[in-house]
Amino acid sequence: MPALLNYGLVISYKIDNVSLSNYYKKTMNTIDFTKLVRKNILSLKPYEPKDIPCKIKLDANESPYTIDVKLNKGIFKKINRYPDPESRDLKKAISRQLKIARENILLGNGSDELIYYLITVFGGPILYPTPSFSMYGIISQSLGEKNIGIPLDKDFDIDLEMMLSAIKKYNPRLIFLSSPNNPTGNCFSSERILKIIEESKGLVVVDEAYQPFSSKMGFLPLLKDYKNLAITRTLSKIGFAALRIGFLIGDRDLIKEVNKVRLPFNINSLSQTLAIEAFRNRSIIDSQIKKIISERERVYRELKKIEGIKIYPSESNFILFKVKNSDKVYQRLIKEGILIRNLGDSIKNGLRVTIGTYEENNIFLDALRKIVGEINEKCQD
Ligand code: PMP
Repeated sequence: MPALLNYGLVISYKIDNVSLSNYYKKTMNTIDFTKLVRKNILSLKPYEPKDIPCKIKLDANESPYTIDVKLNKGIFKKINRYPDPESRDLKKAISRQLKIARENILLGNGSDELIYYLITVFGGPILYPTPSFSMYGIISQSLGEKNIGIPLDKDFDIDLEMMLSAIKKYNPRLIFLSSPNNPTGNCFSSERILKIIEESKGLVVVDEAYQPFSSKMGFLPLLKDYKNLAITRTLSKIGFAALRIGFLIGDRDLIKEVNKVRLPFNINSLSQTLAIEAFRNRSIIDSQIKKIISERERVYRELKKIEGIKIYPSESNFILFKVKNSDKVYQRLIKEGILIRNLGDSIKNGLRVTIGTYEENNIFLDALRKIVGEINEKCQD
C-alpha cells in the first residue's frame, strides 16, 4: 500500500470512495500538537548531541580506540529471532568481570536507559548536584517528576551542608551522584558520598560511567554494606559507545523492581554478541585505558602551559578548562576541524575536551595554542 501522506508528497488513495488524502489533510490541519503534549514536555529542552562533521571528534567522551572484535557470522542466521531477553551470556561475562552475582545486575540500552527506568520506578523528588550529567534533569522532567539540582562547591565537590539540608527538606526518593563527575572531571569526596548514603532514606545511585579512568576505588565494594546504594556503569567510554550497553548493579530486590519496567528485548543481539567478545579482550581494553590516562596527564600538563586558560584536574577521559571568549575558541576549533564540547550556561566560559589519540591531542593542542594566542593578542591591541 502506498504511503497515504508523506508530508510534501500526497498520494491519493481511495477507500469506500472517500479520498483519504483529503481526509488526512483535514485531520492534520485540525491537530495542534502543542495543545496535546504534556506541559512538562512542552518546556523540555532535549539532549542534543552536536552532529557537526569534524575531522577530530573530542566532544562526546568516547574512546579514541576500537577493538577489532570477531563476529561469528552465524548470528546473521538468527536475525529473524528476538534476542535473548535476559542477555544471559553477557550478564555472565559482566558478572565474572566485576565479581558480582548475576541477580545483582540489570542491563540497559546504555546507562541512559537505566536512569530512565530508575526514575520511572521511584519517581521524584530526584536530587543531584549541578553541574552534572544533564540526563538526570531531562529524564526527570520528561516523566513529570520533581527534580532538584544542588550547586557543587567551589572545588566542584559535593556541598555536603546543602545536600544534607535538601535531603531533609525534600526527602528525595532518588539521588544521582556522578563520580567522576561529568563535566567537571573530578571524583567527589568518598566521605561526602558516604554521608549522603547514610542520611538518605531513598536510593543513592553512584554513576560510575568514568570509573575506569579514576585512581579512586569506586563504590562497588560498598554495595554489600548499603542496601540503598546502587551503581551504574557503561561500556560507552571504554571503546563500545555504538553498542549501547550500560549496567545497573545493586541489591537483588532493587534489580527485581527495576526489571519490571524494562522493555522486552532491550539489548539487541548484535550488541550482546559484540559486548561478550569485548569482555574476552579485556586486557586490550585495559591497556587502552592506561594509554588514555597517560595522555590525559600529558594534555593536562600542556594545557597548563597555555596562558589565559584555567584548567581542572581530571579523573575521567576528558578535561574541563575555562578560557575567555570560550564561544569564539569553540567556533575557531570547529573551523580547524576539531569538535570539543561547549558547556554553555552550565559552566561559564567552560569547554570540555575528550582525550583522543596522541596525534589527535597534539593537533588539538597546537590549534588551541594558536587560537588563544591570537585572541589574547587582539585583546591587548
Ligand atoms: N552517565 C554519565 C555521567 C555520562 O557522562 C554518560 C554519557 N555521557 C552516561 C551516564 C550515559 O552513558 P551511556 O552511553 O551508557 O548511556
